[in-house]
Amino acid sequence: MSIKTIGILCSGGDAPGMNCAIRAVVRSAIFQKLKVVGIKRGYAGLLRGEFMDMNLSSVGNIIQRGGTILQTSRCPEWMKPEYRQTAVNILKHQGIDALVVIGGDGSFNGAKALWDEHQFPVVGIPGTIDNDISNTDYTIGFDTAVQTGIEAVDRIRDTAHSHARTFLVEVMGRNSAAIAIKVGVCTGAENILLPHDKVNHQKLADDIQRGMSRGKDSSIIIVAEGPTAGRSYDIQHVMKDMHHLDAHVCILGHIQRGGSPSSNDRFIASEMGNMAVTALVEGKFPMVTVVQNGKVLLTDLKNCTTKSDLNFADYQKLAETLSI
Ligand code: ADP
Repeated sequence: MSIKTIGILCSGGDAPGMNCAIRAVVRSAIFQKLKVVGIKRGYAGLLRGEFMDMNLSSVGNIIQRGGTILQTSRCPEWMKPEYRQTAVNILKHQGIDALVVIGGDGSFNGAKALWDEHQFPVVGIPGTIDNDISNTDYTIGFDTAVQTGIEAVDRIRDTAHSHARTFLVEVMGRNSAAIAIKVGVCTGAENILLPHDKVNHQKLADDIQRGMSRGKDSSIIIVAEGPTAGRSYDIQHVMKDMHHLDAHVCILGHIQRGGSPSSNDRFIASEMGNMAVTALVEGKFPMVTVVQNGKVLLTDLKNCTTKSDLNFADYQKLAETLSI
């Protein structure tokens, strides 16, 4: 079938660089003489018929802006087949022939269901700060979120040093360890606690004491947030009650989700947006744009699920070795 009109939406958590991807899709599609319809607030907006026609100037002056001009959401209804059937009816009624979904692994599951059940053409663009999608080395937003985390920890290090303090800095990333590892190694953190680590408080206390006794003025422990944000407070209490060590908690939270996208995020989002349109024009779907060995290319949507095969323990050890 020949595709004439593309719908585009963002879904799940927002990420810096989503706007660059939207811009690239809209401009590339118009260049190829296609129409683009922006769908506001993800799958939820699709079900509510929140559409806006996109033209060259709708994506002007957004390349540097964080967040997403289309806004995003989580949509529990999308998990049910009957809502996806409704969505296909709405899309057809609107004259939309294909969908570009910018989001994380959850959003891709939603896109895959649309393809599996209705063979509705979809292409995914990985947009999540968590960098937790399989078969791609990179997701849009990760680089900026890491940079924001590094800048924050550098500032915390200044005050930690001045007051000779220990800080538990909790970084975003849900079940993904990627941000914690990269921020930890790049800030010279004394320890990195991964999302599902059973915390060894005794070791943590010994490491801090050892640092102090060789004259260290500060210790930074990076805590990956895991399924529920705020686990740093539990660690803080145990350190105080069982090991008589005072640690301050700083939760970076949504600060890491905002901000102007880095050059890496802008560049890769631009390439991916362009490639997503080319895929649809060439009849290649369901696909996801990915980065493999430094190159942006396409892979089948079914290859992109939650990344779980990374050996982060090596990097955890690296941080500890270099901060001994
Ligand atoms: P992300 O895309 O950032 O991983 P979520 O996991 O919250 O974010 O998923 C975003 C949305 O994708 C969900 O609110 C839901 O609408 C849709 N979704 C997630 N998982 C599925 C699934 N298994 N089947 C259908 N839709 C899904």
